[in-house]
Amino acid sequence: MNYFELEKELFVKSEQIRELQLELDETNRGILMLTLELEQIEEEKIREGMDTIQQLQKELEVTNQGLLALTVELDQAKEKYRNILEHANEAIITFNENMEIESFNPISLKLFGYSGQELSGMLMENLVPGFNKFNQDQHDNANLQSNQLIFGCRKNGEFFPVEITVGEPFYNEQKTWMTIIHDITERKKTEQGLRLMSRVFEDSHDAIMVTDTYANIIDINASFTTITGFSREDVIGKNPRIMKSDVHPPSFYRAMWSKLKESGRWSGEVWDKRKCGEIYPKWVSISAVKNDVGEVSNFVGIFADITARKEAENRLMQLAHFDSLTGLPNRTLFMEKLKWAIDMANREQRQVVLFFLDLDRFKIVNDTMGHQVGDQLLIKVANRLRHCVRKVDIVSRLAGDEFTIVLTNIDHIEDVAIVAQKVLEAFNKPVSLSGRDFFVTTSIGITTYPDDGLDIDKLLKNADTAMYHAKSLGKNNYQFYSEAMNQKVHDELELETSLRKALEGDEFFLHYQPQIEVSSNKIVGAEVLVRWKHPKLGFVSPAKFIPYAERTDLILPIGSWVLRTACQQYVKWQQQGIPPFIMSVNYSGVQLKKPGQLDLVAGILEETGMDSKNLKLELTESVVMEDAENTIKTLHEFKKMGISFSIDDFGTGYSSLSYLKRFPIDTLKIDKSFVDDIATDADDEAISSTIIAMAHNLRLSVVAEGVETKEQLDILQAKGCDQVQGYYFCHPLAHDEFKAFMLSRA
Ligand code: C2E
Ligand code: CA
Ligand code: CA
Repeated sequence: MNYFELEKELFVKSEQIRELQLELDETNRGILMLTLELEQIEEEKIREGMDTIQQLQKELEVTNQGLLALTVELDQAKEKYRNILEHANEAIITFNENMEIESFNPISLKLFGYSGQELSGMLMENLVPGFNKFNQDQHDNANLQSNQLIFGCRKNGEFFPVEITVGEPFYNEQKTWMTIIHDITERKKTEQGLRLMSRVFEDSHDAIMVTDTYANIIDINASFTTITGFSREDVIGKNPRIMKSDVHPPSFYRAMWSKLKESGRWSGEVWDKRKCGEIYPKWVSISAVKNDVGEVSNFVGIFADITARKEAENRLMQLAHFDSLTGLPNRTLFMEKLKWAIDMANREQRQVVLFFLDLDRFKIVNDTMGHQVGDQLLIKVANRLRHCVRKVDIVSRLAGDEFTIVLTNIDHIEDVAIVAQKVLEAFNKPVSLSGRDFFVTTSIGITTYPDDGLDIDKLLKNADTAMYHAKSLGKNNYQFYSEAMNQKVHDELELETSLRKALEGDEFFLHYQPQIEVSSNKIVGAEVLVRWKHPKLGFVSPAKFIPYAERTDLILPIGSWVLRTACQQYVKWQQQGIPPFIMSVNYSGVQLKKPGQLDLVAGILEETGMDSKNLKLELTESVVMEDAENTIKTLHEFKKMGISFSIDDFGTGYSSLSYLKRFPIDTLKIDKSFVDDIATDADDEAISSTIIAMAHNLRLSVVAEGVETKEQLDILQAKGCDQVQGYYFCHPLAHDEFKAFMLSRA
């Protein structure tokens, strides 16, 4: 808008009107004079005069019309001017030479808070303190358009920043100036906000990084450099991935971007690399910034180095979850871990076992030797406890001299007794403190989840009860909460004691079960099966005691005894004229894995004079598959000695035949469970067929065990099975029975 031009136009129009008015006056005066003259001159002259009058009247009409047109124009201009004044956003005020306000637009009233009456005649200086000086300066500098920050003052005394423009003077009735006063509060606020923003950006303790849509860095603040070590030059124009560590997988970043795209925000912990290569944790918040039309124009990433916080958190964690004396988990962590173990057990259908320990003579040590010695004792006890359990088991200190152990991954409850025994034994050795030896023992109460309680409290409470039971039974022992369990463990222990005695007491003897070649119906082999006659219990099945012997390593002396006795027997039979056959001896995985077994077996062969080519060892499938590489090595060593191998119970494990190819074995024994239903179950029949066909493919011979009927035999024969073993032909026999059987068939 140009008020000044409008003002000028108005002024020019008014001048023109005045001139026309003067002209009009002149013409009127001419007419008057002519009329006077007219009275004095003659008739003919009248006509002449009339003409002139007519002429003048015409002129007058034209002038009047011009005047009218101009007046209309003037009105229009005035209207336009009024409109502008009324709707302007700025106060437009005119003042005279005395600096008194003459006129103003409505906004002026609103802006300064005065009524129209109050404002007219008011001094400009009152509206804008310092106005006079400002005006003078403007004038002196002849720089009338320049803006300078000064303040307006409202009626209520409030000051506000204004921008003032004063126009050139014009003449109304007197010399008049027009001034435009613009309230710039908002603009100042914005400017200040921006200044503040940039201060925040620069002074922030958090690193700030701005990128373009392509994630190229376009700006960073000082903290960015402090934290990352990267300078502006290092990073501007680069992708933030220059700071990336290898901590997170690509999926982590993919998830971050997809969240950013979806919601415009992401925050989380990121491990990045500083310029020096150090990897550190930071807490990052990224937001997408959108432009006016709603497209993402930038990303702003703000991050703080949380290394210190993490360390503090860890320290707090340590304090909150670990016992400061022994470093063991405290009650809080114990509860958490036990809960976790129970959850896992539920998922995997397993048991959790809880030991509750209380030292037996701790109070005496503490009272007589003082707390410091007591503390030392607790530390040593904690260390011993830690050493008698596996890594996965959890030892905690609940309070005072109370400890707990949580066992997970328990397959046999007998193993629990073994661990409990180990814990008791850990206290056998004295603890030496300040040059003196102390004997402390512990009493242990044991509960199992889910049998003895479905929640932590119940398990703890019952374990505590069991512990008191152990104390009442004379301390230094363990007790299960459930009587049935105590009984079971008692039986197991008895079994262990009797099993140990069995070897010395000559309670073992051997049975031999013939193996028949299907094609010739001849006895080509026999399997050696151990028998145990317990003095009180009578015959105990190897299916019951062998697994236990394996868990307690008693299988080692028993296994050696079996092999030695069988070899002796074999050599004796040969001397008695029994034709040679292959003797199969069951060989436990525990034996195979014990170092020194090769020498042991070689020693037995040597000592008994047994020919190794007539000896076959039976290994179960699962044993062979475990730790395959070492097994292959060991088997090769045995093979070098001339011993052959068969895989027992084949089909019950998970091994594939093609995998078996890598093992130096000779025979597969189809498990009895397949043979049982071979005549009735199509699946079992198919499995047996497949095993036979593939075994032959691998040049392995096949023995079917547990053949009890003619029907089973016929099917196996039809499928090409090499040998059979089972009650259909013969039960396992005592050595003299076996000798007779062999001689009768020879
Ligand atoms: P295994 O090696 O699978 O032995 C075959 C088992 O099936 C033997 O049971 C045998 O008496 C039985 N059996 C044989 N033919 C038939 C039949 O037609 N019908 C039925 N129902 N059963 C038949 P046993 O003697 O009770 O042995 C059980 C397991 O104990 C053996 O299974 C073997 O794993 C283990 N074992 C036996 N003696 C020894 C040994 O000296 N050392 C080792 N490590 N384990 C042995
Ligand atoms: Ca066997
Ligand atoms: Ca078997």
